[in-house]
Amino acid sequence: MNIHEYQAKEVLKGYGVRIQEGIVADTPEAAHEAAVKLNEQTGTSWYVIKAQIHAGGRGKGKVNETGSNGVVLAKKLEDVAEKAKNILGGTLVTHQTGPEGKVVNKVLIAEDVYYPGASEPKEYYLSILLDRATGSNVIMASTEGGMDIEEVAEHTPEKIMKEWIDPKVGLQPFQARKVAFGLGLSGNAFKEMVKFITALYNAYEGTDSSQFEINPVLKTSDDKILAVDAKVNIDDNALYRQKGLAALRDVAEEDPLEVEAGESGLNYVKLDGNVGCMVNGAGLAMATMDMIKLVGGEPANFLDVGGGANATTVEAGFRIILQDPNVKAILINVFGGIVRCDRIASGVVEAYKSIGDIRVPIIVRLQGTNAAEGAKIIDDSGLKVFSAITLKEAADKVQSVLEA
Ligand code: GDP
Ligand code: MN
Repeated sequence: MNIHEYQAKEVLKGYGVRIQEGIVADTPEAAHEAAVKLNEQTGTSWYVIKAQIHAGGRGKGKVNETGSNGVVLAKKLEDVAEKAKNILGGTLVTHQTGPEGKVVNKVLIAEDVYYPGASEPKEYYLSILLDRATGSNVIMASTEGGMDIEEVAEHTPEKIMKEWIDPKVGLQPFQARKVAFGLGLSGNAFKEMVKFITALYNAYEGTDSSQFEINPVLKTSDDKILAVDAKVNIDDNALYRQKGLAALRDVAEEDPLEVEAGESGLNYVKLDGNVGCMVNGAGLAMATMDMIKLVGGEPANFLDVGGGANATTVEAGFRIILQDPNVKAILINVFGGIVRCDRIASGVVEAYKSIGDIRVPIIVRLQGTNAAEGAKIIDDSGLKVFSAITLKEAADKVQSVLEA
């Protein structure tokens, strides 16, 4: 689960990570008030207005309606409301949102932390993530902060440092020092960075996260180290014990069909193809997607209805798949192990009748307990549903439907 930058910063702050301070706002007036309050709290008189969406690249991204960037600086209090107005309610397009962009409902009014001083402010890159290959967390750090890290990885991979953390003992003090040293820091900035990395790692573990990306981490002109940006991804499987974090979920940022599927207990991921599929079990779902590709189709989605599929889940699945305008055919592929094929077949027929206006052909492949009875129910229903028992039969039917 992703959370917004303003939420992520609050969470990090709770673990002692220094952040660029800010106050969130959802109207231009609230943005102005936030700036006034921020001035009282931090003394800043320069402000950064930052669009809050679940995607990066905001600084370079543009709001369709106004042409404003998603991150802008205001050097006067009087400008804050106007600049916030050019972002709020608009659609921000960045290289991570895709061309359709994302609607901005909130802005973070933050203190400008790039103020002049004894040294130049300097941006760094820090992330923590789970490295599945080694089964341990890894800290990645680079002096090339503020840049697109994928570019750095491609052109100058030697500029990305990696430090793996032994899960049995956790982050060791020498490792935090090694990373800070590797970033070329010394003196007070070095000590601050060690503190920053240690607190960040505690936050990562404490929140059951699977990814943290702080880009940029800033060394201010007076050698403070702080998080200017924060991307936090919390492991969904841990949300049952992270109730406070689970409450930070912003459903408006998620794919509406995936949200609806989640509410029906279905495991749905939208894809770009033309054949909708409804399958029980993740492994069979993947095999089904392969099969669709083999006969020249493209899966429109991944949908695992789970082991206890019934008429209600099948209907919910249908409704979700049918909302995708790209779907030209639906393939239902169910193995009757726990669930009986005749029950699924009745469920399909019932769901079909209940939804009514289904314009795309449906191919139902039922195998396992009572497969023949299931096929008979489908065939006798008089509906535009084709039954199949073997995978080959189902594949041939999908192919003929696509070619028709
Ligand atoms: P992203 O573009 O979505 O990754 O958003 P960031 O939070 O990383 O901000 C984008 C860029 O805005 C940063 O890389 C900085 O260069 C700039 N920026 C952020 N905060 C400040 C600030 O306080 N002062 C100035 N001058 N620039 C800032
Ligand atoms: Mn960033």
